[in-house]
Amino acid sequence: MNPQPFFFYILTPSFHHSFVSHLFLFFYLCFVEEFKVHILGCGSANPLSKHQPASQVLQMRGKLFMVDCGEGTQMRLARQGLQINRIGHIFITHAHGDHCFGLPGLISTMGLLGRVARLHIYGPAELQGFIQTVTDIFCQQMTHEVEFHAVDTTRHSMVYSDRSVEVWTLPLNHRVACCGYLFKEKEGARHINRPMIDCYEIPVCEIGNIKAGADWTLPDGTVIPNERLTTPPSPTRSWAYVSDTRVRDELAPLLRGVGLLFHEATFLNRDLFRAKQTYHSTAAEAGRIARMAGVAQLCIGHYSARLKTPGLEAQLLGEAQEEFPNTLLAQEGICIDVPVCPKD
Ligand SMILES: [Zn+2]
Ligand SMILES: [Zn+2]
Repeated sequence: MNPQPFFFYILTPSFHHSFVSHLFLFFYLCFVEEFKVHILGCGSANPLSKHQPASQVLQMRGKLFMVDCGEGTQMRLARQGLQINRIGHIFITHAHGDHCFGLPGLISTMGLLGRVARLHIYGPAELQGFIQTVTDIFCQQMTHEVEFHAVDTTRHSMVYSDRSVEVWTLPLNHRVACCGYLFKEKEGARHINRPMIDCYEIPVCEIGNIKAGADWTLPDGTVIPNERLTTPPSPTRSWAYVSDTRVRDELAPLLRGVGLLFHEATFLNRDLFRAKQTYHSTAAEAGRIARMAGVAQLCIGHYSARLKTPGLEAQLLGEAQEEFPNTLLAQEGICIDVPVCPKD
């Protein structure tokens, strides 16, 4: 079917009552509701056979937002079926290689794929020279531009906003300038009350207007108010990414209401001295912050090369769960549907 007849077809009554129209509505509703996090890499600086360096992707309402881009990230994207050029914004926590060495390859591949949309990269000012060098050397023939936005890692401030999400920095305490990121979903459209839509035989092409708040007028002039055709929007969700940092109790109030908190947990309790020395956190400290903040779920990672011994990741999980039971271990390839945080 070529595009023009299909366009006219979707305006016809036969389409509105067809199985295809129901399928169309189903996918539309799934698409706008998604808010999930893909773990691409959860290792740290030294190469590990089991883990990739840090990178995660938030998938929401058809968009992909990347946080950190360790070496090999583009391979993980391909393996996890995520389209590289759907990424418009990349947020880097700090200028350590395990969080940004994947950028040259990724930027270059975006160009090879014929990208034209501008790519926005956010991170501490120290990264500017690195990004500039990469684009000067490798991107001269490319059709897309790369724009770097320096963020103030010492303040909790909003660095990005669109109609569906806000992104805020979370000041961290690491050996170099470093911040985490907090993604807050904005309230979406109202939900369609399907039985009422069917009852009044409202065509699929009007669903967008109804979701946006429009009333519906029957052929006899009776106006059906929007409140009867829709139900209130879903509660909003949020995801926080905290890596790398010495634990900071000051983060707890900023993380209140978060559905999914990723917090680094590089060390076991017995290595607390080393955690302090290298400005990292223990699993128990990550659990404590999750408990103090009252988040819905905690995910821990940033595994060190010392954890090659079998069973050590399970120990990390155990120590975090003593503080916060609803904790899971990050693993490459998993995708987490971000839960709604119950109101306290
Ligand atoms: Zn790191
Ligand atoms: Zn680091």
